[in-house]
Amino acid sequence: MRENNLLPIAGEETGIYEDPLDLMDEIDRLKVAKDATILAHYYVDGEIQDIADFAGDSLQLARDAVNVTTSTIVFAGVHFMAETAKMLNPEKTVLLPDLQAGCSLSESCPADKLAAYQAELRAKGHDIVTVAYINTSAAVKSLCDWIVTSGNAREVVENRVPKDKEILFVPDQHLGRYLMEVTGREMILWPGSCMVHEVFSLQDLIRAKKNNPDSLVISHPECPQNILDVSDFVGGTEKMRQHVAAIQEPKTFLVATEANMIHPLEAIAPQHEFIPVPGIMTDTGETCACNRCPHMARNTLQKVRDCLKRGKPEILWQPYFDKAKEVVSRSLLQ
Ligand code: SF4
Repeated sequence: MRENNLLPIAGEETGIYEDPLDLMDEIDRLKVAKDATILAHYYVDGEIQDIADFAGDSLQLARDAVNVTTSTIVFAGVHFMAETAKMLNPEKTVLLPDLQAGCSLSESCPADKLAAYQAELRAKGHDIVTVAYINTSAAVKSLCDWIVTSGNAREVVENRVPKDKEILFVPDQHLGRYLMEVTGREMILWPGSCMVHEVFSLQDLIRAKKNNPDSLVISHPECPQNILDVSDFVGGTEKMRQHVAAIQEPKTFLVATEANMIHPLEAIAPQHEFIPVPGIMTDTGETCACNRCPHMARNTLQKVRDCLKRGKPEILWQPYFDKAKEVVSRSLLQ
């Protein structure tokens, strides 16, 4: 909780607060002193996106990471994204402000379980190509043939995977189902999902639509099918930005994705109003207050400052990064 826009230093109980503007100045100075570049995902706090050198979705940030010229990268996002930045920049120091910033979707598909399932399918005679959403660990990426994002998934499935192969799609069942529908290709789906997109409530969305009768619904393809069915536009974060920017007449959009996505949408299309779609907690049935990703929320201005100061936590090179890098480069950078 904020007090006069100040940020608690080490938990609210300390009673010591820092001014975000001072923190932003300090981060700017440290960036120069430590020869660092900050990359921030669209799902982290708007203040962190504002001090970042690059803000974007997973695909854009993977591409930006290749063009960084400083010796250090600070990745304000989650663990698998920082791993990707490291594998593409082995010689650079890659810092993640909070090592606990994981991803429920990535964690729903551990590498050992995927390897066992691939072996089982092949033993049963399935001639599979494994296509993985980018929200996977580097260890999982090293077991796959193609890596996709919500921005390029359709193109890869339609044009790059031979028609005579079966597709095992991991880890997001909702994105997989959406891809089956738009490409007409059958897939074996891994039963994973994102905790943030999973909780969007159809009931709340319909209520929000009733309260805003002329509004348009834009959704991320990680949302469950019942949300996609009532959406006016379905696309990844970058496609959402392009979509709203192309509409000149002021509109109201109900946005079904992580709530911080409102920040880049307002920046690129200030003529519109954006309303976040509330979620619902599957375990308690209560309406979720903010549809925030708890992993992305681990990134704070203070942690960005602290990791720059201390040079840690750092993502260290792992032996399977070589194979993962080959798959990522072929899939996303060529
Ligand atoms: S929003 Fe979902 S997919 Fe994205 S980092 Fe959070 S848990 Fe993972």
